[in-house]
Amino acid sequence: MYDLVVVGAGCAGCVAAERTAGRGFKVLLLDRQSPDGLGHTWVNGVERTVFGRLGIAMPSGEETMPSPLSSRLLGPAGKRYVETTSAPTIEVRMSVFVRRLLAGAVAAGAELRGETTVERALVEKDRVSGVVTASGEEIPARAVVDASGWEAVLRHGLPESSPVPREMDEGYMVTAWREQRRLPPDEAADVPRLLGIPPGVSVSRVGWRGGYSVLMLHWDPRESELDILVGFNREEAEESAGEFVARFLAEKGIGGERVYGGGGLIPVRRSLDVLVDHGLLLTGDSACMVIPAHGSGVASSLIAGDLAARTLARCLEEGDTGRENLWEYAAAYQRGRGALMAYFDVTRGLTDNFDREDMDKLVGYVMTPGDVEAGLKAEPLGIDLTDALRRLRSLRHPLFTARFAWLASAAIALKKIYEDYPERYDPASLEQWRSRVAKARRRLEPA
Ligand SMILES: Cc1cc2nc3c(=O)[nH]c(=O)nc-3n(C[C@H](O)[C@H](O)[C@H](O)COP(=O)(O)OP(=O)(O)OC[C@H]3O[C@@H](n4cnc5c(N)ncnc54)[C@H](O)[C@@H]3O)c2cc1C
Repeated sequence: MYDLVVVGAGCAGCVAAERTAGRGFKVLLLDRQSPDGLGHTWVNGVERTVFGRLGIAMPSGEETMPSPLSSRLLGPAGKRYVETTSAPTIEVRMSVFVRRLLAGAVAAGAELRGETTVERALVEKDRVSGVVTASGEEIPARAVVDASGWEAVLRHGLPESSPVPREMDEGYMVTAWREQRRLPPDEAADVPRLLGIPPGVSVSRVGWRGGYSVLMLHWDPRESELDILVGFNREEAEESAGEFVARFLAEKGIGGERVYGGGGLIPVRRSLDVLVDHGLLLTGDSACMVIPAHGSGVASSLIAGDLAARTLARCLEEGDTGRENLWEYAAAYQRGRGALMAYFDVTRGLTDNFDREDMDKLVGYVMTPGDVEAGLKAEPLGIDLTDALRRLRSLRHPLFTARFAWLASAAIALKKIYEDYPERYDPASLEQWRSRVAKARRRLEPA
C-alpha cells in the first residue's frame, strides 16, 4: 500500500510528492495528463522570494520570460495610472518549470502515473482511504493529497460529515487567459499604435469589465512579442477569457503566431476554512490558495506542498493520519500564508464595494507604487515617506480616502483572526473562529 497518493502533478502536487518521498515514504503521483504534456502552457508571474524560502532553484533560461521595463496599473477609464519599475515577480513558463519539479519528485523516489484521471476519493466510514480512478481502479493509501487545481476532484465527493467545504460560491471563479504572440517585422512596428500602448511597458487595466477584471498588454520590441493577459468573473460572462482574447486581437487587426499560451479558471478568494480531513490534505487551487487581489496561486501552492509534506512525514511516522493529527498543516498554512490571503481578500472585495468611478479614484489618487509592489509580493501595504506624500493628494476625495482607510484596517483585523486559527482540531473552537471571520466579513459588505 502507498503511504501517500498525490492527485495532480502541478506545482503543489510535485512539491508535496518530492518532499514526502524524500523523507523515505512510498508516494504515488497521479495526473490525467501524459508525462510530456504536464504543466500549464501559460506564463505565471511568481514572487521571487518564494524560491529561496523553499530551497527551489530560481527559474532561469527556458523556464522564464523577460520582465517588462516598467508596469502601469490603470483604472477602468484608463486615464490615470500608478507606475512601478521594480520586478518583484519572475515570469515563469509553467510547463517547463513544473517538469523540473516533477523530475525532482521522481528523483526523490515518487512513482508517477500519467494519463490517469482520478474520479473521486475512496471513503471508508468517515475516512479517505485512497482514490478511485475513472476506469474504476481503487488505489488505497494511508493519506491522500488533493492537488488537482481548481477542479478539486476529491473535495466534492467527501461525506456530509466532513468539515471540509465541498462546494464554494461560483461567484469567485475567474476565467483567465495569457498568451505571447510573435509578429513578423512588417506587422511589428504597428502594434503599439493599434493597441494604444507604449513599447516595453506592461499596461494593466483593472475593473474594465466590472467586478474583478484585468486586461494586461505588453509589447516587447526586443523579442517582437505581444504578451496579453485577460481575467474576469466567469459568472456573468458569455465568453471565456480565451474567446475574448481571440476576438480582441482580431478586432485590433493583430496577427502573428502564438508562441506560448493557454488559460483556465482561478478560484479568486481566501483559502477554504478547513484544509484537512481524516486521511486527506488539500493544497493549492483545490483549497483556493491564490492571492485574491490578483489571482496568483503558484507561490501559495509551492508553500502548501512543502508544509503538507512536513506534517505528512510526522503523521506517517506516528502511524496516525487522522484529521486531528493532520491539523498541524492546516494551522501552519492558515496562520501564515492564509492570513495574508485573507488580508488580500479584502482588497479583492474592493471591486464589490467600489463602482468604476471609485476604482478610477483608487488607482489615480490613493494607490501608490508601494501598494502595487506589496500586492505582488503578498506583503501587507506599508506607508513610507514617498507613499505618504503621494497619498496626501488623495485628500481631494476625503470621503473616499476615509473608506479606503477603513477597508485597510478591516483587512488587518481579518488577517489577525486568521493568525489566530485554531491550533488543534476541535469543532467548538472552529465554529467560534468561523463566526469571528463571518462577523469581520459582514462589516465589509457594501451598505
Ligand atoms: C491564465 C492564467 C494566468 C495565471 N497567472 C498567474 C500568475 O501570473 N501568477 C500565479 O502565481 N498564478 C497565476 N495563475 C494561477 C496558477 O496557474 C494556479 O494558481 C496554479 O497553477 C495552481 O497550482 P496547483 O498545483 O494548485 O494546480 P495546477 O497547477 O492546476 O495542477 C493541477 C494538476 O492536477 C491535474 N488534475 C486535475 N484534475 C485531475 C484528475 N481528475 N485526475 C488526475 N489529475 C488531475 C491537472 O492535470 C494538473 O496537472 C494563473 C492562472 C491562469 C488560468
